[in-house]
Amino acid sequence: MNHAVVHYHEIALKGKNRPLFVRKLVENIRGALKDLPLRWVEGVGGGVLLTFGNPVSSEAVAERLRWVFGIANFSLGSLGSRDLDSLKQEIARALDGRELQSFRVRTRRSDKSFPQNSMEVDRELGKCLVDRFHWPVQLEDPELTVHVEIAPKKTFFSFEKIAGPGGLPVGISGRVMTLISGGIDSPVAAYRMMQRGCMVDFVHFHSYPFLSKASIEKVEELIPLFQRHQKTISLFLVPFGEIQQEVVAKAPEPLRVILYRRLMARIAERLAKKQKALALVTGESLGQVASQTLENLRAIEQSVEIPIFRPLIGMDKIEIENSARKIGTYEISIQEDQDCCQLFIPKNPTTKAHWRSLEQAEKSLDIEGLTQQGIDRTILKKFSC
Ligand code: ATP
Ligand code: MG
Repeated sequence: MNHAVVHYHEIALKGKNRPLFVRKLVENIRGALKDLPLRWVEGVGGGVLLTFGNPVSSEAVAERLRWVFGIANFSLGSLGSRDLDSLKQEIARALDGRELQSFRVRTRRSDKSFPQNSMEVDRELGKCLVDRFHWPVQLEDPELTVHVEIAPKKTFFSFEKIAGPGGLPVGISGRVMTLISGGIDSPVAAYRMMQRGCMVDFVHFHSYPFLSKASIEKVEELIPLFQRHQKTISLFLVPFGEIQQEVVAKAPEPLRVILYRRLMARIAERLAKKQKALALVTGESLGQVASQTLENLRAIEQSVEIPIFRPLIGMDKIEIENSARKIGTYEISIQEDQDCCQLFIPKNPTTKAHWRSLEQAEKSLDIEGLTQQGIDRTILKKFSC
């Protein structure tokens, strides 16, 4: 196989900005196929044609392209002649030796100067294949679909169309900082932001050496799953145990979790600024646990200036778990670990943190000093493919 055609969906709606989106998509496709002999990339009709220098395995190309955000679907195949009679022979030759119960032809013609329209190509090519192989035509759910694309100066055919992950190309929407915990929710939140075109950096708060390194290891195990979409990822590891000790020593017990979260948000905000990230992202969903009531989410929000995005806010746990299974993070997330928030957890955490009591509690803490301590002890790990 020497060629592939990639189709985008949402990008096609972008009007004047479309070339910008397509350029980003092409850049990401090149990145994903870096280890394969990709020679040319060019626009054809409403898609992008990829030409490989040597024949490549369909599986190798498919395995890489199916993770590139912005791709609606793609087909792996060959270039054909511009003359319908020759094209028919080429396609028939490519199908030689197959045994099929049914087939159909689907043509897209973006080159309106081509002498036959798409229905005529469907009909003529279909007839040629029936005459030659005697396979029945079936328009609904056939065993094989012959896809033909007639674009200006190029004709392409293939026998399969593979779904891409949709969305927008990573990087087109700017950069965000995701607070990732090693639980089920935050990886799904990060995935959703990547799917909307964001470059995602990660920050993880851990309580090593008070607790084991398990949560750090889990987060590091999740990173390669995200690298299928975004090649280079920065992970900030913040030691949080001593900061928690300080909160435990000086603040009322029911407020602890919200005070942890406000400190996490402040540290993450500073890291985000360093990275030129424009928002924080969390896996919070309204009402899921005591710390995620409307009042508490607002109390966390008020500790920082940067916006906090919560892409899972309206999803229930089952929906989130199903998404986690689909994107492959679930099995890692359910492994046993010790999250820093399990350390010094209060018996009765507040569900309605009031700003006045938080303000009071934070007066007894050196908020600036603790935030800076978090930043100073942060370790940055860079992952690149
Ligand atoms: P998750 O499944 O993502 O852990 P959760 O349902 O367990 O979420 P919480 O523990 O209340 O909910 O955490 C809410 C959000 O706060 C998480 O989704 C994550 O974005 C952030 N968070 C919690 N703990 C950490 C941590 N140790 N490091 C970084 N972010 C964290
Ligand atoms: Mg959690």
